[in-house]
Amino acid sequence: MQTILSVKNLNKRYGALQALKNVSFEIQKGNVYGILGPNGSGKSTTLGIALNVVNKTSGEYSWFDGTMETHEALKKVGAIIERPNFYPYMTAKENLELVCKIKGINYSKVTEKLELVGLVERQYSKFSTFSLGMKQRLAIASALLNDPEILILDEPTNGLDPQGIHQIRDIIKQIASKGTTILLASHLLDEVEKVCTHVLVLRKGVILYTGLVDGMSANDVFFELQADDNDTLMSVLSVHPAVKNVAIDQGKVLVYLKENLEAKELNRFLFEKNIVLNHLIKRKNSLEEQFLELTEKN
Ligand code: ADP
Ligand code: MG
Repeated sequence: MQTILSVKNLNKRYGALQALKNVSFEIQKGNVYGILGPNGSGKSTTLGIALNVVNKTSGEYSWFDGTMETHEALKKVGAIIERPNFYPYMTAKENLELVCKIKGINYSKVTEKLELVGLVERQYSKFSTFSLGMKQRLAIASALLNDPEILILDEPTNGLDPQGIHQIRDIIKQIASKGTTILLASHLLDEVEKVCTHVLVLRKGVILYTGLVDGMSANDVFFELQADDNDTLMSVLSVHPAVKNVAIDQGKVLVYLKENLEAKELNRFLFEKNIVLNHLIKRKNSLEEQFLELTEKN
């Protein structure tokens, strides 16, 4: 597997404020990474340092296994870290052609990328007539003109309406499905859950978790039960050998396990003890619950 970006013990100070503390992570080719953290956690600072627009205080980062200098490597990186800005009086097509001209890219890429972001029909409209969502889509098309190895996006759906958000997320998934590595920063859990395969959870400049989005909750399977008499249900459950502990939340009995237990087995066990359930769900802790747990405890 090829490492696209490797960050080691990165620190950033803005005066007295330590914005990043020993941040380390690796971005592998073909995956979709989300840097997830509340506002002010250091997401944009991390991206800015990797893109050489913010100076690091200490630590290291290297692109493409350290095989090339940062300025060379950045030619293979497509990034949108600011509000998209193009010439307002020029059309979408003209704006992208200008980018091609500046970067020495064949004009044939313009139509291909406009198609990808669903703007072919609006290619002759002036940029000034575009909605924020369309502007953002044009920025994505522009960042992809040279077929970069990785696309970096900072809060790509901020300020968009629900339809615009949906369109951007679909486009990101489509780009990922073609093998482009993606790194996006977001403060939205559901965005990372919907779009990303991997997540880095950042809070106050510290990485709290890195790994698979699914892996975050893999070890946390539990049952949610309800019976007419929840008290009896809880006392019967507490003697089951597979049950670790039992809790009650909003009228539902939550059953945490120390070993695997199938829903069918649990149901049969309770029925034999004369307990009839009116609710049984096998659940995994959602990323949201895990995220809140992580960020509250630390
Ligand atoms: P995020 O993108 O997660 O919202 P940022 O990386 O923008 O977080 O900011 C991290 C912290 O650094 C915040 O406390 C922010 O106020 C501070 N910060 C960011 N940029 C600057 C700057 N240019 N000067 C001083 N402080 C900054
Ligand atoms: Mg930010």
